[in-house]
Amino acid sequence: MVKTYVFGHKSPDSDTITSSIVMANLENKLGNTDAKAYRLGSINKETEFILNYLNMDAPELLESIEDGSDVILVDHNSPSESIDNLNNLNILKIVDHHKLALETSYPLFLRFEPVGCTETILFKLYQENGVEITKEIATLMLSAIVSDTLLLKSPTTTEDDISAVKALSKIAEVDVEEYGLEMLKAGTDLSSFTIDEILQLDAKQIDFKDVRSIINQVNTASIDDVMEMKDELEEGISKIIDSENLDLFILLITDIVNSNSQVIALGKSAKLIEKAYGVELIDNTALLEGVVSRKKQVVPIMTESA
Ligand code: MN
Ligand code: MN
Repeated sequence: MVKTYVFGHKSPDSDTITSSIVMANLENKLGNTDAKAYRLGSINKETEFILNYLNMDAPELLESIEDGSDVILVDHNSPSESIDNLNNLNILKIVDHHKLALETSYPLFLRFEPVGCTETILFKLYQENGVEITKEIATLMLSAIVSDTLLLKSPTTTEDDISAVKALSKIAEVDVEEYGLEMLKAGTDLSSFTIDEILQLDAKQIDFKDVRSIINQVNTASIDDVMEMKDELEEGISKIIDSENLDLFILLITDIVNSNSQVIALGKSAKLIEKAYGVELIDNTALLEGVVSRKKQVVPIMTESA
């Protein structure tokens, strides 16, 4: 029998992992009983919290797939974030909330919506197909929406995310604020990581016009706790700037409770932060009030100022 691999992006986050599970379940319920969830990397602490809460195992790690295999992608579609031989696989479906970054030579099922989380789209797909959302599925969906939208406070949040969470919290029987904050906090525990690991946890290479940059975002419940490591972090950042030949490295330390970010900016284009946000960098750092979304509140503003 033909097997269908369902997976999200590399460096999996909670949306990627839960959406793989929830999408595979939907496929099973709709008759594709060979669909199975997989992951392309290790589980982060926030996702571990969710799976522990539900007493669920993580999806199996997928090291490689044979060319020609059937796959379903969730929470990503860019080949650079996917399994290496994506171009040689047969993509059946994609459910995603990122910009389209892929071209295929064959038709396939695409469901893209500009919402805060893949699970919000899956919530709709369950409803449209009349598939029951169990307490477990509801908890997975709700957890991912809370994660991707930082408790519905990120500017990526849409009305659809809000109404999905409202409906799901009833089925899941959880207090969203209480459970969500506990879950987000579980994801901010940096104690087991080295400085070099922290600087790579969620690093994305993004060029603002010709300014070669990396933005790394770290969520925390206490900016002060992370800033205690400032000297070591700056030392690590300087090494990366040299080895990667960067003009700018931005470490965005995002306070998930108060919805602000402390920024540490190093490199010869660090002043770009001052121009973009009208702040003054003192000792390479400044507070960016209300900034929580790299996608919506950093990348476009920095690009415009470059
Ligand atoms: Mn994701
Ligand atoms: Mn997502």
